[in-house]
Amino acid sequence: MTLAIIVHGGAGGWNQSTARKQEAIAACAQAAEAGQAILRQGGSAVDAVEAAVNILEDCPVLDAGRGSYPNAEGNVEMDALIMDGRDLNLGAIAAIQRVRHPISLARRVMLESGHSFLVGAGADAFADDIGFERCSVEELLIDDLHIDEMIPTSAIGDTVGAVALDIHGNVAAATSTGGTANKRAGRVGDSPLVGSGAYADNWTAAVSATGYGEALMRIVISKRVCDFVGTGLSARSGFTSVRSNL
Ligand code: ASP
Repeated sequence: MTLAIIVHGGAGGWNQSTARKQEAIAACAQAAEAGQAILRQGGSAVDAVEAAVNILEDCPVLDAGRGSYPNAEGNVEMDALIMDGRDLNLGAIAAIQRVRHPISLARRVMLESGHSFLVGAGADAFADDIGFERCSVEELLIDDLHIDEMIPTSAIGDTVGAVALDIHGNVAAATSTGGTANKRAGRVGDSPLVGSGAYADNWTAAVSATGYGEALMRIVISKRVCDFVGTGLSARSGFTSVRSNL
């Protein structure tokens, strides 16, 4: 049985200095290795994508968890989505504050909340109800974040994500982000929206997206790529078809 894991550190990486890009690449390699180790031991695709994304959320030069871009009020509001291709179960959170690992909270939403998607104050309350570890906003903000670049308003970030295929033939996808830089408080991008920021189903593919959320959500890009794969196209051809249809 083929095992696979693919991770990404976001569409904004081209905007980073060489040193930061190297740090991001190293984090991606570490994340992929962590996910692969789980898959090799027979672990699930969901476990693998969560573990991989946790590592990327800890990387200070990527826009997720620690290192998230601040919004226009200097606060950090993060979005995350995890999806299990076995049964299409999913968990998502949006505008969550003061957690180091939003993807793990999204997974807890999937498994323990009785719902699929929690936002803002309700997501906060759920995190506290289940005793999810909280942190200060200072722990998430990196002082010299992207200091060597000019960040235009609404710059695309370095959202992180992972997709995996496990030994049982199940796929999963996960996406986590601090969103775009200087975004308005309460702005939610594509990342936590099912079918936009990610999608996974065993019958087609697993996809994690990055890019300008206001554009990606219009075309429900991740589900669209899965649909193309469902017609027999490869993942790459599916993505190319989506692009050429825009
Ligand atoms: N898609 C993310 C958002 O719009 C940004 C990114 O991919 O870096 O929030």
